[in-house]
Amino acid sequence: MAGNLSFDELKTAAGSGDIDTVLVCCVDMQGRLMGKRFHVQNFIESSHEETHCCNYILATDLEMATPDGYATTSWQAGYGDYVMKPDLSTLRRIPWLEGTAMVLCDLLDHHNHEPVPQSPRQILKVQIARLKDLGYEAMMATELEFFLFEQSFRELAQSGYRELTPISAYNEDYHILQTTKEEGVMRPVRNHLFAAGIPVENTKGEAETGQEELNIRYAEALDCADHHTIAKHAVKEIAWAQGRSVTFLPKWHPQKVGSSSHVHMSLWAGKTPVFRDENAAHGMSELMRHFMAGLIEYAADYTCFLAPYVNSYKRFMKGTFAPTRTVWSVDNRTAGFRLCGENSKAVRVECRIGGSDMNPYLAQAALLAAGIKGIEDKLDLAPPTGGDVYENAEAKHIPSTLRAAIETLRASAMLRAAMGDAVVDHYVRCAEWEQEEFDKAVTDWEIARGFERA
Ligand code: ADP
Repeated sequence: MAGNLSFDELKTAAGSGDIDTVLVCCVDMQGRLMGKRFHVQNFIESSHEETHCCNYILATDLEMATPDGYATTSWQAGYGDYVMKPDLSTLRRIPWLEGTAMVLCDLLDHHNHEPVPQSPRQILKVQIARLKDLGYEAMMATELEFFLFEQSFRELAQSGYRELTPISAYNEDYHILQTTKEEGVMRPVRNHLFAAGIPVENTKGEAETGQEELNIRYAEALDCADHHTIAKHAVKEIAWAQGRSVTFLPKWHPQKVGSSSHVHMSLWAGKTPVFRDENAAHGMSELMRHFMAGLIEYAADYTCFLAPYVNSYKRFMKGTFAPTRTVWSVDNRTAGFRLCGENSKAVRVECRIGGSDMNPYLAQAALLAAGIKGIEDKLDLAPPTGGDVYENAEAKHIPSTLRAAIETLRASAMLRAAMGDAVVDHYVRCAEWEQEEFDKAVTDWEIARGFERA
């Protein structure tokens, strides 16, 4: 199940005054919900068919700047429209907002109503279809880590993000006592999301002051990405409503560990988990071995989709549980890929490279593309790596800067074949712009280091 509200149920709820607003949303390049707030009557009468948005929605940065260099749109082309086509299977109640429902949209070309290839939802749909042609579906789960702060977003912005006070004063990994103190925010997060049709498993304290983890039950890949996006949005809104703030920035403090978004993956044929072979080592099927070999072989190609900003690369530090090397291990959290559910029906691979800032549609699409390539080429999986992988000099490195990851993405024949040049070029430009903007910044670090002593 994707959403939890049928169109007929929406009509009934509108009639009784139970729902008066429908959030009609698409997903932008950064993985954010963008769209319009419709009066429910207008949605029922017409805009459930389609509405429109400026096509810069897939060509802006976090601050809604309008960088040049995109083939899809520009000042020159006049910034026309995209069609926002509601996917009514995603219609759901949004219990944390009064009288409100939400629907996710696909973006279509304004003239011919074809899907926009650069749209994150479409990019993932293409890889799901390729996998389906091989006879499989992907079940995926993306963990959400973030930090919760005592102050509001506005207070922190007004202080220039100087006085950030995490909600707890100590590492709260698995702590029940500390997380009890955070239930004011985290209990509504779990319950509202669950009531919105998102199968929340649990929340827990994570391994830093004020760090949280939200786990959602694995689902078919598109549902998983939808769940992630709505959950991330909900966490921000629920914290905001209580005068608190959260950040999904992977590394907000140099001495504190960063926030990840690990991705769990297994392939299924109908109801059968096809990563499982009870007679093989670790219970891993040949298919799983090829898929994992593809993930590892092409990790550098797709790192940009798992770590899209300059800040994302500050998280990859040894001794922090964030990986630095592209090898696999058996239940070992120092490697980029971890075998989970060994010898069980739930045997799966966890990719630990993604940061909390990843766009889940792009991340999952890129991972599937790499896994599919591994299956198609029957790639061999090397033996697992043990011990402290940070110190394993033979293991290949994840690109350590956005600059390096842009180049491996640009040069990726695998992703160009799987996604198309138009998509790869678009996201290369997106990442280049991030780097260009950063290169213009004069940072606090430079000033503190050099002001007197340079
Ligand atoms: P961790 O120790 O990494 O926190 P968990 O046991 O909490 O691991 O599981 C993490 C995620 O893996 C959960 O979201 C769960 O739904 C998902 N998961 C469990 N089984 C599978 C599977 N067969 N395929 C994909 N994801 C799965």
